[in-house]
Amino acid sequence: MTALNFSILKELDSGLGRAGVLETPHGLINTPAFVSVGTKAAVKALTVEQVKSLGAEVVLSNTYHLYLEPGAKRIKSFGGLHKFMNWSGPIMTDSGGFQVFSLGSAYGKQVSKIARSEEKNIPDENVVGNLAKVSEDGVTFKSHLDGSLHHITPEKSIEIQHDLGADIIFAFDECTSPNESFEYQEEAMERTHRWAKRSLNHHYSNVLKNIGVEKQALFGIVQGGRVESLRKRSAEFMANLGPPAGGFDGFGIGGSFSKEDMDKAVKWVNEILPKDKPRHLLGIGEPEDLFMGVENGVDLFDCVAPTRNGRGGTLYTATGKINIRNAEFRDDEGPLDPDCVCEVCHNYSRGYLCHLYRAHEILGGTLGSMHNLYFIINLVKRMRQTIIDDTFQDFKKGFLSKYKK
Ligand SMILES: [Zn+2]
Repeated sequence: MTALNFSILKELDSGLGRAGVLETPHGLINTPAFVSVGTKAAVKALTVEQVKSLGAEVVLSNTYHLYLEPGAKRIKSFGGLHKFMNWSGPIMTDSGGFQVFSLGSAYGKQVSKIARSEEKNIPDENVVGNLAKVSEDGVTFKSHLDGSLHHITPEKSIEIQHDLGADIIFAFDECTSPNESFEYQEEAMERTHRWAKRSLNHHYSNVLKNIGVEKQALFGIVQGGRVESLRKRSAEFMANLGPPAGGFDGFGIGGSFSKEDMDKAVKWVNEILPKDKPRHLLGIGEPEDLFMGVENGVDLFDCVAPTRNGRGGTLYTATGKINIRNAEFRDDEGPLDPDCVCEVCHNYSRGYLCHLYRAHEILGGTLGSMHNLYFIINLVKRMRQTIIDDTFQDFKKGFLSKYKK
C-alpha cells in the first residue's frame, strides 16, 4: 500500500542504521525518531503544546485502552483521535496485542519484555488480574475497568483503529513473555502470522470501501521472541505478506528480548525486512537501547519510560539517571542536567525539583516528564544528525562513556 512516503537520506557505513524522512498525512517524521506515548489520548501530565515544544513529532496511543474508555465510536464522532486530543501531527495506535501479554501470561510474574533487566517494568499499571485468554479467533478480555467481557479479533482491532483514525496502525499480534518455552513462542508466532494476514485483508477490504481509511498505513509486527530461527522466519513472513496491494506499509518489531542479545535479534530481523519501509522497535527506549536500535536499522521507537520515570522522579542526565527525591539534592542549586538545554533545566534547580516531588506537588511530575521526554527525543535527534554528518560512532562512544546505566 502507499499510505506513506519513506525516503532514506543517509546510511551508516557500518551497520544497518539510516536517517530518513517519513511522510504521513499529518506531517513529517524525521527518522530515527522517538515516539511519545499517549496511552489514553494524553501524554501523561503534559499538554499537547508542551509535548510539541519538546520537539516531539509523533505520538502513539493505545487501542485497548481507548476502546474501553471513552470508546472508539465516541472518538470517531469527535472527528478522530487528532481532533479529540488536539494533536495535529502524526499519530500511531498500537493494536492492543501488547495487552494480551500484560493482561495474560506476564501478569503477576513481574516479567518485563526484556529478560534479566534489573528494572521492574510492569507493563500496565492498571492490571488487576489474569484477565486475557487467547484463542485462534482472537483474545477474550475482562475489562480491567468494570470486569465486562470483551472479545478482540484481528478484524475488530483494525475496525477500532479505523475509528480512531491514526496515521499508522498496527496488525493484531500476540506478544509473548521471554520466559515462555520454544514451543509456545513458535505457536504464538504462527498465530500472529495468521492474525497479520487477517489484519491486512480486513484493512484492505475497508480501504476498498472508500470510507476514509485509505490514508491510514498498516504495520505488521515481527515476533519470535529470543529465538534466532523464529525471528528470521517471522521477518521473512511479514516482509513477503501480500497481496493485497504491496503488503504492509512498515513493520513493528515486537515481543520479548534479552538485554544482552537484543542487538542480535534486531539485526536478524532488519537484515531481512525490506530496506525501503520503516521499522518500529516497540516499547524500547532506554538510551543504550536506542543507540543499539538506531545502529541496527530501527527508524522509530516508543516507550513509556521517559514519562513514567518522570512522574516518579527518576530523571535522565548526561551521566545517568538520578532519583531527584534523594536528600542529597535538597540544597542543590544547580540545574537538573548541566548539559541539557530544555526549559526545565534552564529555569529550575535540582533543589526545587527535589522539593516538588517530596511535597507531592503535581508540577514535579510535569517538569520531570518534560525534561525526560526532551532528553530522549533529542538524544534520538542527535543520533539522526550524526548519521547525516558521519559522526555517529564518535557520538555514541562519547555519550555512552559518560552515561552510567
Ligand atoms: Zn532538561
